[in-house]
Amino acid sequence: MLNDEYSELRKTVESFAREVVAPVIGDYYEREEFPYDIVRQMGAMGLFGLPLPEEHGGMGGDYFALCLALEELARVDSSVSITLEAAVSLGAMPIYRFGTAEQKATWLPKLASGEVLGAFGLTEPGGGSDVPGGMRTTAVLDGGEWVINGTKAFITNSGTDITGVVGVAAITGERDGKKEISTILVPAGTPGFTVSKKYSKVGWNASDTRELSFTDCRVPAENLLGERGRGYAQFLQTLDEGRIAIAALSVGLAQGCVDECLRYVRERQAFGHPIGHYQAIQFKIADMEARTHTSRLAYYHAAEKMLAGQPFKKEAAIAKLVSSNAAMDNSREATQIFGGYGFMNEFPVGRFYRDAKILEIGEGTSEVQRMLIARQLGLSDL
Ligand SMILES: Cc1cc2nc3c(=O)[nH]c(=O)nc-3n(C[C@H](O)[C@H](O)[C@H](O)COP(=O)(O)OP(=O)(O)OC[C@H]3O[C@@H](n4cnc5c(N)ncnc54)[C@H](O)[C@@H]3O)c2cc1C
Repeated sequence: MLNDEYSELRKTVESFAREVVAPVIGDYYEREEFPYDIVRQMGAMGLFGLPLPEEHGGMGGDYFALCLALEELARVDSSVSITLEAAVSLGAMPIYRFGTAEQKATWLPKLASGEVLGAFGLTEPGGGSDVPGGMRTTAVLDGGEWVINGTKAFITNSGTDITGVVGVAAITGERDGKKEISTILVPAGTPGFTVSKKYSKVGWNASDTRELSFTDCRVPAENLLGERGRGYAQFLQTLDEGRIAIAALSVGLAQGCVDECLRYVRERQAFGHPIGHYQAIQFKIADMEARTHTSRLAYYHAAEKMLAGQPFKKEAAIAKLVSSNAAMDNSREATQIFGGYGFMNEFPVGRFYRDAKILEIGEGTSEVQRMLIARQLGLSDL
């Protein structure tokens, strides 16, 4: 049960998504264009500052508030939802959690207002599941500056006109025979930091995803985020939280499928009845609703534990696993219910179908979630 404040926020974002995003987002998607105007309005509403304290220009809410907003946006469109998720959860939160007072003062007010977007560069062409194994990017201290060399793959929000800063995970040395990994803040436009053209993607087509390359890219030594050698621990924490956010986004997509189908099956006629008359269709929608409901409970529970300061790694992995499955299953069934129209870009369910698959991949694949759950159950030492 949501309290009044959460309820109010949910309703406000629901109206914004229906009235502002829904009428135009299909065209942005088809043009593969980043929706600057929508993002600007999301900034004006304070969505980018939801979990950040007021002293940093935020709304003084919490991470669950962010999740509610992500869910409501994704009910209508996932590109805008992932833009918010990556900007806040991957861009701003690491600076808030681990940054120095100066880094917070420099970046958080701008990130919280949505005036600039943040990004997080972890994945490399050589691997995203096994981050340390696949990492080749290096950062070497030279004359009071980090010199960064390497390539990052699939980085969200990294090449928009309003991208401000990217947190780059890099190898900064060796400790106990292992790679020492640290995170370094690289402002957009730094010489030696090149952003490729946008990938051509299967889904999330109104969001920005790019490959980044660093060639003798120099930033001041003070751009180190938190402690040297803590990069691995930082991104594990960031990803644990991010999984709850991706679960919320997935639940939104799953709910959007239910919403669209409930409308359509009343209108579409076949064999003398609205198709919703047939039990085969009713059962599909009942299953969709059940998956959405249980996935929502899973992410609410993970968020509750996180906000209470309790361990939540297993719950976050479960929430991400079941809700990305729900999004995938619901979008497949919704497209089926829409028949040929489901395959037309004019109807949102086709877009939901294309957007759902990445939810089983990004911020840890479903296999990685199962590995995390098994590890939490003590199975990794067998
Ligand atoms: C649109 C998009 C946006 C993204 N945004 C970002 C971003 O902003 N920042 C960022 O850093 N990254 C981002 N990513 C990267 C994303 O997190 C990775 O793609 C993801 O973690 C998987 O890594 P990979 O693609 O290298 O696959 P791999 O790690 O190569 O995995 C390939 C397959 O092998 C499986 N696998 C791997 N290891 C095991 C194992 N031990 N047991 C069983 N199966 C295994 C995986 O589950 C997967 O099915 C984004 C990706 C996409 C597509």
